[in-house]
Amino acid sequence: MRLPLTMPRWIAGPILWPLTERLRGRDTMRRVEQLTHSQNWPAKHLRDLQQHKLHRVLRSAARHCPFYAQRFRDAGLDVDDPQLSLADLKRLPPITRADIREHHAAMTWHECPGGARPYQTGGSTGEPLQFYIDRFRASADAAARWRARGYWGVRPGDPEILLWGAPFELTRNDRLRRWRDGLLNQYLLNAFDMTAANMDDYLAHIRSLRPACLYGYPSSLALLARHAASRGMQPGNLGSDRLRAVFVTGEVLLEQDREIIAAMFGKPVVVEYGSRDGGFTAMACPSGQLHIADENLIIELLDPAGQQVAPGEIGEITLTHLDAFAMPLVRYRIGDLARLADPGTSCPCGRAHAVLTEVHGRVTDHIVCRQGSTVRRMHALSLIYVLREAEGLAQFRVTQPSMDRLDVEVVPDARFTTRQEQLVENRLRQRMGDNVTIRIHRRDHIPPTASGKHACVVSKVVENDE
Ligand SMILES: [Zn+2]
Repeated sequence: MRLPLTMPRWIAGPILWPLTERLRGRDTMRRVEQLTHSQNWPAKHLRDLQQHKLHRVLRSAARHCPFYAQRFRDAGLDVDDPQLSLADLKRLPPITRADIREHHAAMTWHECPGGARPYQTGGSTGEPLQFYIDRFRASADAAARWRARGYWGVRPGDPEILLWGAPFELTRNDRLRRWRDGLLNQYLLNAFDMTAANMDDYLAHIRSLRPACLYGYPSSLALLARHAASRGMQPGNLGSDRLRAVFVTGEVLLEQDREIIAAMFGKPVVVEYGSRDGGFTAMACPSGQLHIADENLIIELLDPAGQQVAPGEIGEITLTHLDAFAMPLVRYRIGDLARLADPGTSCPCGRAHAVLTEVHGRVTDHIVCRQGSTVRRMHALSLIYVLREAEGLAQFRVTQPSMDRLDVEVVPDARFTTRQEQLVENRLRQRMGDNVTIRIHRRDHIPPTASGKHACVVSKVVENDE
């Protein structure tokens, strides 16, 4: 195993990071300064800024994207009206992934300054989605993440280890990116390939690189923490005295995972919420509140009919990105369910930014089952709890290939007896109904899904059957 060296922080942070950002045509450093200033603003100032930026992004969309120009005309929205307010946004119908798929040429401004870079979603929730990002959006998202990491004392150039899905075959671009990331003290460990031997290597990397933060899928970081515990390592800092926080994203953080990560790494587990298509959205502050980057985004929660949910109710996150010009996202339904804190409540940290009190993850983090003649969605957690309670299960994955079948893969130890297995099957059946075939498969190792996530529950029914 070859261990990389770290770049001194005083070179990586103040010199190399601004330089690489500038070479990429991004003004991220200036934006971090602005956001660090505006995080102290009262809510009224943040709303004024949103209104100003909304106006700008709608005018650009009307001029450069025929899809949006048509939508605005249909809704009778005059984007040049200086009185245009945040309330006027609600007159526009929300857009979905299907709209992006169908109309992406008419939604994209390819001649946008700095160009439109193609991106794809991972495809863990079905077909991958092609979309475009410009340098304004890229730097706005990066700056919002760095501002929020600043809440935890983590700055650009601080050593960071990412536990993330990585391709096995590296292209020339991937190699260049790794070289650049190395200069900036960012090191990638492959969450696609978490065998016991690799996890031993990953722990050695942490001891050697002494990162200021770890970043990754909560399920992968929890797997690494459990592996460290199984190797007899003492709970604590696992060799990084510099570590300030473990940032988790991409999946819902389960309480059991939070506990094992916090115990083994000895630092707070901080939730970052965002998506590849929607960008960086929110991060928890030291008071534990998930603050939205209001300067960059307008977040609404909608019901299935497209109406705003009542305050305090769960709704689908619908996002308007205020810095996306190459492919504007105006009222884009992200597919995650969440609840917003009452706008009247204030956070002890003093920030006035809106707060997500719950994020329930993708609509597809659900299992679909029949109850009598009706079809209902059940949150994946209800199955996860059954398996978590069972004795002797180190790891598991539930796959629902069709409405009447459930495949449960488990990595058992000696405590998982046939009696335990029967108990698990009965409890799953209570939740799923009698007409579902439940198969339990004993495995030595469960490889991650194609997207690299160690997802516990995967349903393939949701998108087809509804
Ligand atoms: Zn706060």
